[in-house]
Amino acid sequence: MQMLPWFVATFSTLLNRYMTKKLHHGLLLTGPKGIGKNQLAVGLSNALLCKQPSTDGPCEQCQSCHLRQAGNHPDFHVLESEKQLGVDKIREGIAKLSGTAQMGGNKVLLIPRADTMTEAAANALLKTLEEPTNNTFLLLITDSINKIMPTILSRCERQILSLPSVSDSLNYLNAKGVEDASEALLAAYGYAPLRVEEALSGDESISYRDFSDGMQALLAGDANMQAQALANKWQGNAQQIALWCQQMAHDKYMKRQQAVDFERYIACVEAVKTLEHAGVNKSMVLFGLLKQFQR
Ligand SMILES: [Zn+2]
Repeated sequence: MQMLPWFVATFSTLLNRYMTKKLHHGLLLTGPKGIGKNQLAVGLSNALLCKQPSTDGPCEQCQSCHLRQAGNHPDFHVLESEKQLGVDKIREGIAKLSGTAQMGGNKVLLIPRADTMTEAAANALLKTLEEPTNNTFLLLITDSINKIMPTILSRCERQILSLPSVSDSLNYLNAKGVEDASEALLAAYGYAPLRVEEALSGDESISYRDFSDGMQALLAGDANMQAQALANKWQGNAQQIALWCQQMAHDKYMKRQQAVDFERYIACVEAVKTLEHAGVNKSMVLFGLLKQFQR
C-alpha cells in the first residue's frame, strides 16, 4: 500500500519512533474529514504487525504481512459500529488483546471512529489505555476531537493531522484521473482531497461539478426559468447548494471587494439558516438565492 504523499513524513517519523521503542501505545489521530487518517492508521498497523518493518512501512514479505494481506491477521482488530460504539463491543475488543500475540509480535486495536464511543465504552477502554498488555497498540481516529472524553485524551498521544497543501491535493487528484481538479473544486469540499475523490466517484447525490455547471448555465442563460429549474432539481441537496453558493460569493468578494458579492454572501448565510428548519419550502428558498446570483 502506497502511503498518501502528504503523510509520508509523519508515517516514517512514527515508524522511526516505533523502531527505537519510543512510540506511545495509545495514539489518537485527529484532523479534518477526508484527508486519509484511516490510511495512515492502517499503514501504521500493517507496519506494527510486520516482523521486519522499515521506516518506509511493512516488508510485505513475512508471514505476518501475508496473513494481513489475506485479511486474517489474528492480532489485528478493528472496532467499528454503524452508529454508537457500545461498551460490549469495546469489552470484546479488549478481551482479544489479553494474552500474548498469536503471531508473537504486536497486537493492534484500531478504532476508526473513536468519537462514536459511548461514555461507558470510553470508560471501559480507559483501563487498557492506562495499563496496556504487552506489545499492544491502540490506534484511535476521529475528526471530532471535541467529542472524545478528556480522560481518553489525557491517556493518548495526539497526532494532529492537517489538510494537505493545495498543490499536494491537486497532484493527488490528477494522479487519480480527476482532470479538471482546481482550487475551487477543492475548496468546495473543505480542501479535503479524499472528499473530492469520494464525491466524484458518484457516491454523493450531487457533485460540485453539477453545481458549477448549473451556476454557469444560470449566469449565461435567461433568468426565471433557469433559476426555477435549478431550484427544483437541487432542492434535495438544498443545504449543500446554499453552502456552495455562500463560498462562491465569499471568494468573489475576497477577489474584487464589491458590495453585490457581500450582499449575496449574507443572503446565503441566511438561506443556510432558514434551510435548517424542518418543513421549509426548499425549492423556494433556493429560487430566491439563485435569483440573487443573476442580478
Ligand atoms: Zn512483513
